Amino acid sequence: MHLAVVGAAGRMGGALIRAISELDGVELCGAVERSGASALGQDAGVVAGLQPLGVPVTDDALSVFAAADGVLDFTTPAATRAFAELAAQARCVHVIGTTGMSEEDVAAIRPAARHARLVKSGNMSLGVNLLAALVRRAAAALDEDFDIEVLEMHHRHKVDAPSGTALLLGEAAAEGRDIDLGDRSVRTRDGITGERPRGDIGFATLRGGSVIGDHSVLFAGPLETVTLSHHAQDRQIFARGAIKAALWARDKAPGLYSMDDVLGLSD
Ligand code: NAD
Repeated sequence: MHLAVVGAAGRMGGALIRAISELDGVELCGAVERSGASALGQDAGVVAGLQPLGVPVTDDALSVFAAADGVLDFTTPAATRAFAELAAQARCVHVIGTTGMSEEDVAAIRPAARHARLVKSGNMSLGVNLLAALVRRAAAALDEDFDIEVLEMHHRHKVDAPSGTALLLGEAAAEGRDIDLGDRSVRTRDGITGERPRGDIGFATLRGGSVIGDHSVLFAGPLETVTLSHHAQDRQIFARGAIKAALWARDKAPGLYSMDDVLGLSD
């Protein structure tokens, strides 16, 4: 499968290029960066810390999408909206790992799913998607006597909060409880907040150092607490998951899919 990477000079862009070069059945066919990026014109392999791969980094996304079977996209919400339109035109697979997308951003990419195969997830790792399935079950089994709190920590360069993964885990808990996360989430606490409302789902964010991604979901009940957690040790888990998603989506009908679909975890 011929895969292109957009955001090729980013942290995840590099991880994706390295993973494509390590795995069988996939080949890098294009690498895109934003206009003005210093990596433009350089070899994508060299940008990712490898030997040259003969694929120059370009800002001509249209040509790259036209030549690719699938595009791996870990960039920004604005860029991902534009890339989804190109994916629809090219009728290719578009794997979206970008986080921090608003409801409006998600609505904007939805029409592309009529023509392209989109796989979107705030976390592409097997472990986190399994964790979300466990959180869904625990939230259904434990009633509102158990307060649910989602705690996450990431490196100091991360620009959005809570993380896409924290929100994915909060969604899983809300599904288990059969409530709407938008109505019941507490994203920040400061000053005299009053007592914790029963049934809310809280989020707490830590930022610092080079932490790749730590997430815990706590179910704090009367006299006992259950904690389910995941620690990412290397960005390769997201890159390999994204490639797995692209290979899975290759022969699927157009649509908007999740990693639950890819990993067979949909209940
Ligand atoms: P980064 O800032 O290192 O990389 C982003 C890259 O995208 C940059 O090189 C930037 O120049 C490029 N870019 C921005 N706009 C562009 C455009 N219009 N065209 C082409 N390239 C463009 O960030 P990162 O740490 O690699 O993370 C990227 C995104 O992926 C974030 O939203 C992050 O939260 C998310 N992420 C998701 C997962 C997951 O599993 N879903 C895992 C890790 C990170």
